[in-house]
Amino acid sequence: MMKMREITILGGGGEVGRMAVYVRFNKSGVLLDYGLGFGENDIPTLPLHVAPSSLKAIIISHAHLDHSGAAPIFYISSNIKSFMTKTTRDLLRIMYNDMLKISGYYLPFEVNEIRKMLKNVSIVEYNTSTNIDGAELEFYNAGHIPGSMITVIRANNRSLAFTGDVNTTLTRLVKPADPKPIEADTLVIESTYALVDHPPREEVERKFIEAVREVLENGGTVLVPSFSLSRGQEILSILNHYGIDYPIYYDGMIREINRILLANRDHLRDPTSLEKAISSAIEVKDWRDRRKALRQPSVIVSSAGMLKGGPAVFYLKKIANNPKNGLFLVSFQAPGTPGRRILEAGTISTDSKKMIKARVMWFDFSSHSGKSGLLEIIKSIKGLERVILVHGEIKSAENLAEITRNDLGLEAIVAENGQRITLD
Ligand SMILES: [Zn+2]
Ligand SMILES: [Zn+2]
Repeated sequence: MMKMREITILGGGGEVGRMAVYVRFNKSGVLLDYGLGFGENDIPTLPLHVAPSSLKAIIISHAHLDHSGAAPIFYISSNIKSFMTKTTRDLLRIMYNDMLKISGYYLPFEVNEIRKMLKNVSIVEYNTSTNIDGAELEFYNAGHIPGSMITVIRANNRSLAFTGDVNTTLTRLVKPADPKPIEADTLVIESTYALVDHPPREEVERKFIEAVREVLENGGTVLVPSFSLSRGQEILSILNHYGIDYPIYYDGMIREINRILLANRDHLRDPTSLEKAISSAIEVKDWRDRRKALRQPSVIVSSAGMLKGGPAVFYLKKIANNPKNGLFLVSFQAPGTPGRRILEAGTISTDSKKMIKARVMWFDFSSHSGKSGLLEIIKSIKGLERVILVHGEIKSAENLAEITRNDLGLEAIVAENGQRITLD
């Protein structure tokens, strides 16, 4: 019988990004995620290495590159089975393509490895299980983005759950994670927002819509720079739900992602309403459309979310100088990004002294559980003995670890990269 021996944290220890955990059985093992980190000047960083010969399978929790971006490296010389949902696989085709365009120069693999990987995918469904070499794998909805999953590995008498990125809050796009049916003695959980609770979703939506209406009724244009995967579609759904009666445009990679999400309806909370939101908005197809979008009061939802590239940069230059317009940021703005600089200093680039005159606002739409949601997951899982915290700044992970120890009486480990944790 296969025995789960130990896990090694290959990435995501004390950091948000390049998530990777190696679970070792007797001689070989499985990988839970193998993502990229994005450091200084956007140069991608890989997780620690594991030999392909000691891998039975790679499990990809979801299509974000910080969980999936480095996985093609294992297909240079081998052909390892990977497990993911169909939505994740379809999204990865686009995400990987975009990654090669932006960072290809720095990556140790090319389009061939990506093709090989995506050809070898075993598609899995929520609430089902499969077997690999005597270990059982179970999959559950993680509520983070369409297709995201929680994985449970069961071997001999040990069990380990891995959340990937997780959300227990209902959003417009996906159903929330439900940890109640999960049983595991060890939990590897993300801790991105373990220090805070997000404000109630409805309140954020209402404030956002109120501000959008004010700008539009005043004759201005609202630019919503948005992540192409998930947040963009969520914003389109919100605008449609509240009946914004002005033209709504979408531009950038959001366009391709829209098509994939609508072709994978099982992983959407309400496919009909997303379809309605997308079809009642206007797809920007070329430069003529781009200029047209700016001619009258409208809402423009455009990639990229932190204004690092994409058509959003063009729109920003056009709307920035008029106080009638609005620049509404709807996602986390990483340090060093133009979006962060605008929030902190009010200028577009480091050398520019020119302040943005448009109304700048930030809204806390998150697809990660806050502190209470993460605690709810820890409390809900049956048979839990030990919690390992990953995918969070040290301070954030420490906070959740302390509560887990003091209030729940469980063992809690703030993981570091390279750390081995014995499961025997
Ligand atoms: Zn994610
Ligand atoms: Zn992540």
